[in-house]
Amino acid sequence: MEKQIERQPACKPEVGIEKQFLRTTEFFNLEGVALGIVPPGAVEPLDTEAAATLDMPPSTLTKAETIENNAVDSEALSHIIPPTILTPTFIFNIEGMEATQATQFYTSSHSRPASHDETDNAVPLIERKHLVIRVYPNLVKPWRQAAGAVQGEVWFKRTDIAGQPYRKAVVLNGSTAGRRAATIDRGNANHTLNFRIPDFYARGKLVVYSRCKVLVAGQWKYTPWLGRLLTFVRVPVVRIRAHGVHYHRNGILKTAPPLSDFIATSVYLRKTWPMSRFNFLSYDVIHFAGDLTNTAGGGCGQGWSALWRQLRALYNASGQDANHYALMKKGIPTTYGGCGGGNVGASFVGDGSIMAQELGHALGRSHAPGCDVGGPDPSYPHYTHPQSAAIGEFGMDYATGKVYTPSNSNDFMGYCGNPWVSPCTYRALISDINHQPSPVTVEASRCAKNLCHSQEHLYLDFGVSSNGDVDLQSGFSMEGPGGNSNGGPTKHSIELQDGQGRVLWAKRLVLKEAHQSHDDSHTWYSEAIPMLSEVARLVFKCGHANGPTIIDIPKKAPTVNIEALKFDISEAQSGTVPLKWTTQCGKDEQVTSIVRYTNDGGETWRPLVMALGETEYKVNLDQLPSGKNCKLQVMASTLLRTTMAETEMFAVSRTPAQAMISPVPQDGQTQQSEVVELAGCAYSPDGCADEDDCRWNSSLDGDLGGGEYLIANNLTPGEHVISFSAPDGVGGSTHAEYTVQVLAQG
Ligand SMILES: [Zn+2]
Repeated sequence: MEKQIERQPACKPEVGIEKQFLRTTEFFNLEGVALGIVPPGAVEPLDTEAAATLDMPPSTLTKAETIENNAVDSEALSHIIPPTILTPTFIFNIEGMEATQATQFYTSSHSRPASHDETDNAVPLIERKHLVIRVYPNLVKPWRQAAGAVQGEVWFKRTDIAGQPYRKAVVLNGSTAGRRAATIDRGNANHTLNFRIPDFYARGKLVVYSRCKVLVAGQWKYTPWLGRLLTFVRVPVVRIRAHGVHYHRNGILKTAPPLSDFIATSVYLRKTWPMSRFNFLSYDVIHFAGDLTNTAGGGCGQGWSALWRQLRALYNASGQDANHYALMKKGIPTTYGGCGGGNVGASFVGDGSIMAQELGHALGRSHAPGCDVGGPDPSYPHYTHPQSAAIGEFGMDYATGKVYTPSNSNDFMGYCGNPWVSPCTYRALISDINHQPSPVTVEASRCAKNLCHSQEHLYLDFGVSSNGDVDLQSGFSMEGPGGNSNGGPTKHSIELQDGQGRVLWAKRLVLKEAHQSHDDSHTWYSEAIPMLSEVARLVFKCGHANGPTIIDIPKKAPTVNIEALKFDISEAQSGTVPLKWTTQCGKDEQVTSIVRYTNDGGETWRPLVMALGETEYKVNLDQLPSGKNCKLQVMASTLLRTTMAETEMFAVSRTPAQAMISPVPQDGQTQQSEVVELAGCAYSPDGCADEDDCRWNSSLDGDLGGGEYLIANNLTPGEHVISFSAPDGVGGSTHAEYTVQVLAQG
């Protein structure tokens, strides 16, 4: 058996719990203590100079934030005001601060004792992910003493880099009615004062200070400053090869969604997964005409399974260096919302929580229990009762400030409603992302037996019926990784034998697609089988009454010849070029072809079309990455044997990037009111424009900042024409526009 990259399937924390907090001033402000003092200890107090030199990196912050941060707030400097001594019956302090990016443990006095034994803030903070600070003010005042609303401020500064100024966090809600901390309900976003620290600053060592104020008898009263030191865990970007599905079946035509739809739909994952961003390594259009309402066979049904197998083949044919994900436009008849497992998945545009589940399956995550879900994860914590997918802790949307409450919100890995993320899934995904497909895991798999050689593998897709019939679907062989053994165990196995019937290799089959069960009428497999030199036959031991199914591997592979390219290879090419080839195989055999492309002389290959029965394909070079060392390849396969042929090297010119904007779906609506969230990219086959070079601009408020994902809190009410612009990669620029209505609050 091959040594595989093993991964703990259980959702246990893998990251050590760090003491993220400075033990400073919690509860220290008792009756009669002078208020308005500066924070004690090792951390510098906010000073006039720092406030005067607030310089924001323009690339990541919105204009609203910039204004917020450039304003010299005289209130923030009020620690120099002489302290006010209050009467013993008046207490005003901060009970605590919760640092959350999606979910967090925090025991407020209202909710003690906790239903778990986790320490406060035990969920690690992720580097470069937006961060919400929830401040819990505690106001105790004499009866009949009138007081205004409690307001607050949060300032932050990196302490691991010298000379950083204090910056002011973005206000998510402006004020809260003053109340005793013991009556603060974490489920109510407006019982706390909430602030966002933009992702750009969420790294290194971050010191965060908060202070609240309230107007009593015409005079501002201040809490002491409460300080925290936050540290962050680095998690890799999530690697995706994106496939927009062009769907055409029975008169229903849905063109492929653009890459900006991937960025917009995956914002839900930016919020709920322990990660900061995606790297969409490539974008291709794939064609699909399957019936997604066909649920026969179990699992996702035959329609979705066919799409899943197509993605698995693409994953194998591109060398297993990233997850593969497909999105479709809504309006295609379907029974299920998505399907995933074995490093691939598919779902619809706008369904962020379904994408979160399917990509979770792709990385090996099982279902959270409850609501008749199949194959629940036995290690999922019993937050409320064993059959519940309750999220177990309060969640927070860092853009809108919306709180998700454990009593009515459920983990996105399950089937129950109002999806968000539990600490269990969140922490487990850190480990999953660290083990995602990448050039590193490909290399590790190649060296699985400490041989560090490339092995030819047969990538075979097949189905097995409940009575043991084996149905080979598609296959091709090439040098590549063996893949991992993650998946649900079955009673089925596969063997390789030599001419004398000696077993050369054997493997128990696993169900990689997460919705399958071995009780289904059909199970689908996608296996990498090493093509050892003495191999003569494949033996499937799948419980057939007549014994194992034996399939001889043909001794001879088909032949393939590519016609010489008809253009002058000394000139850089663009547009569509016809690729023609001829094949030969034994009688009773059928050849299918895969066309692949490289722009780095064959280091990496990208499949352009799979399982083609034709011997001609029009290659659109405008949709492919440019380079001087480009080649096309045809892999001709008779299922179990494959031969390759390549063109000579040629150059492909660069296609200019094109800007596009997609709205970020919010609870099924795209209408923006108080917070505007948009996804944009300047897409070219050579990759999207660098995030640092992208700008967002509003017709009313001017510059809004940079990046692929815009969160604009506190925009001026009215109609904004928001534009996204970026360099086009060939010396010009490209831009797209989107109109949003921002409604006045209240
Ligand atoms: Zn699922």
